[in-house]
Amino acid sequence: MADSKRDYYEVLGVQKGCSDEELKKGYRAMVKKYHPDLHPDDKDAEAKMKEVNEAYDVLSDKDKRARYDQFGFAGVDPSYGGGAGGGFSGGAYSGDFGGFGDIGDIFESFFGGFGGGGSRSNPNAPRKGADVKTSVQISFMDACKGTGVDIRVNRLERCSVCGGTGSKNGAAATVCPDCRGSGQVRVSQRTPLGVFQTTKTCDRCGGKGKIIKDPCQSCSGTGMARRVLQKNVSIPQGIDDGQSLRITGEGDCGVNGGPNGDLIIRVSVKPDDLFEREGFDIYSEVPISYMQAALGDDITVPTIDGTTKYRIPAGTQNGDSFVLRGQGVPRLYRTGRGDHHVSIKVVVPKNLTKKQADLLKAFNDSLNERNDSGRKSSWFK
Ligand SMILES: [Zn+2]
Ligand SMILES: [Zn+2]
Repeated sequence: MADSKRDYYEVLGVQKGCSDEELKKGYRAMVKKYHPDLHPDDKDAEAKMKEVNEAYDVLSDKDKRARYDQFGFAGVDPSYGGGAGGGFSGGAYSGDFGGFGDIGDIFESFFGGFGGGGSRSNPNAPRKGADVKTSVQISFMDACKGTGVDIRVNRLERCSVCGGTGSKNGAAATVCPDCRGSGQVRVSQRTPLGVFQTTKTCDRCGGKGKIIKDPCQSCSGTGMARRVLQKNVSIPQGIDDGQSLRITGEGDCGVNGGPNGDLIIRVSVKPDDLFEREGFDIYSEVPISYMQAALGDDITVPTIDGTTKYRIPAGTQNGDSFVLRGQGVPRLYRTGRGDHHVSIKVVVPKNLTKKQADLLKAFNDSLNERNDSGRKSSWFK
């Protein structure tokens, strides 16, 4: 028997050294898995349920758990003999869960007292304030160069009237008479398994253990108030569409001395008519005439800094591109810039006059003559 017995932590699917909360969670999960209501007449599930109950019985008891951790099964079960376990009362788990009501009852009776899901936390513990979120829209160029934006957000701040105490004239809070400062009150619950003593949050003080006799009218005793924050925020150069800025400590104020939350600003960037962006590189198109393409020219290229001159060679083709190194977007929070990629678009003239058309034909004929004499044409076929 000693060899076949599974480790209690393993039975509950938890780690040795886990918290009470994790233990309960593990137990709950196993009860859900093996409860006889879900597996009628399944001997295996029944045995598993028994094992789970035994493991939880030991591990949920502080003393037994300590002995188990130190001495193993011998520490908690006298039938193992020779162990150091003294006060263990054998037979505490009969394995007869016929007495359980339906599965819902079990959760109610066992876990109802843990705050409906076991997430109750000490209301007096310091808590970080919530993050406050907002969004701004900026122009393409502002995203490249950086800018300042005015934002307006609603956030929780310490009440300025009472200085955050919640008390009208700054008087100290008094101890709650219902729970005598503990924030918890004991309640008895009758269940199919007997009467359970559980604790719940004190209604009178909301678990704080303290009561404010004369609450501040401005904040109704909470010590906090919603205020509008207006602020000019600087947006760094290089930011891209969809990125967010986090300003630490500018969110809702913390509770019980906890730190403030953060202010999170999501930035959306309007598209530009001339430029497109990919990472820190800029892409744009420059139209030229076919004469410029054929003969080459100094052209003016719009960049995010203004314009720059660029010499295109004779015989430039539609779709040819060149790169202006280091003339892209400044890298966010770093030095250096991306590149600017320019692609050439040769514009074919429309609506030619008869005279222009004739000239063009004559020009084409001259190309064909050159072809006849063995020279290569790069223009019309
Ligand atoms: Zn106040
Ligand atoms: Zn109370």
